[in-house]
Amino acid sequence: MKVPMVDMLAGYPPLKDEIETAVKGVFNKANFILGEEVARFEKEFAAHNGAKYAVGVANGTDALRLALIASGIKPGDEVITSPFTFIATAETISQAGAKPVFADIDPVTYTLDPVSVEKKLTPKTRAILPVHLYGMPCDMDALMAIAKKHDLRVIEDTAQAFTGKYLLGGKDWKYLGNIGDCGTFSFFPAKNLGAFGDGGAVTTNDDKIYEELKALRNHGSKVRYIHDMEGFNARLDTVQAAVLSIRLRHVEKWTEMRNAAAAGYAEALKGVCITPVTPANARHSFNYYTIRFDAKAKRDNAQKHLTGQGIANQIYYPISLHLQKAYAHLGGKLGDLPVCEAVQDTVFSLPMFPELTGEQIKIVTDAVKQAVKL
Ligand SMILES: *Cc1c(COP(=O)(O)O)cnc(C)c1O
Repeated sequence: MKVPMVDMLAGYPPLKDEIETAVKGVFNKANFILGEEVARFEKEFAAHNGAKYAVGVANGTDALRLALIASGIKPGDEVITSPFTFIATAETISQAGAKPVFADIDPVTYTLDPVSVEKKLTPKTRAILPVHLYGMPCDMDALMAIAKKHDLRVIEDTAQAFTGKYLLGGKDWKYLGNIGDCGTFSFFPAKNLGAFGDGGAVTTNDDKIYEELKALRNHGSKVRYIHDMEGFNARLDTVQAAVLSIRLRHVEKWTEMRNAAAAGYAEALKGVCITPVTPANARHSFNYYTIRFDAKAKRDNAQKHLTGQGIANQIYYPISLHLQKAYAHLGGKLGDLPVCEAVQDTVFSLPMFPELTGEQIKIVTDAVKQAVKL
């Protein structure tokens, strides 16, 4: 039986009337550009995260680019990040004029390894860009300590990890994205909080960064046709903001449902393959559920078997960024970052969405179990 990677429509019927009324409200007011729904959603989103400010932007990629520029990243600077991520993370470092520097990842959490980050520091390093991959929190205590010691900015790529949490310093539960100088979020439909199109946001507790972000998303302008600097057209669409305000009220419940599905997967796959281990000081948002095998051939075989049965699956990400043609000019080569090179060859992700049923979990895990016996 077929199982999709995500079921976009499963969460829609219960909210249909409310969402359609809100969207019609925007149509009837015709306040399409930076309408009041955008300001309202920004307030709600900041409050949810415990952040002072949120700025709505057009997508998660713009969120990263604007956060980097607003944090003062300039041409000639270096920003240390993970190579095991979607290209937007590194692309936007280049677009801010800086150089992405790839450090290796942790073999258990697949997120930025603080020990490797320290080895990549140079006098040009200005920021660290940790990625909370699949929804798994990075080791923020260690990364924040490095940043403090070397006076670096920290921009958290929280595109896959909205509603994830981290117990900072062993005593303070913080939403991911609200630990560094900025948190960047994507509302791409398949993320934890999906819009009905593209959307994104940056959160910060810094007054100066906030003012800069608001200007940058709107051509560098705070007062119409007065430009103290150049910016971008990177505004969050008003229709999307209206949808997001409604969906935001359900997102915590959806993350609980994702965590319950993840527990079901872990139980069924015990001893079959490596399943995600969430540290005690973290809440995983399970945007993706990723399993690992002890050899590439086993991974490839399992993936093929699932695909053959109509069970959707995906490798996030098959080629680490330091090995991509787009970054050949940086001189990365096989052997540079052994952990992420081993992980990219042995992982793949299973269907994951809040409404995943016990029956679907059984179909998927039975197929994985069959595959490892083949
Ligand atoms: C989705 C994603 C982005 C980009 O978000 P868009 O809204 O698609 O531009 C950035 N980083 C990571 C890790 C992502 O998963």
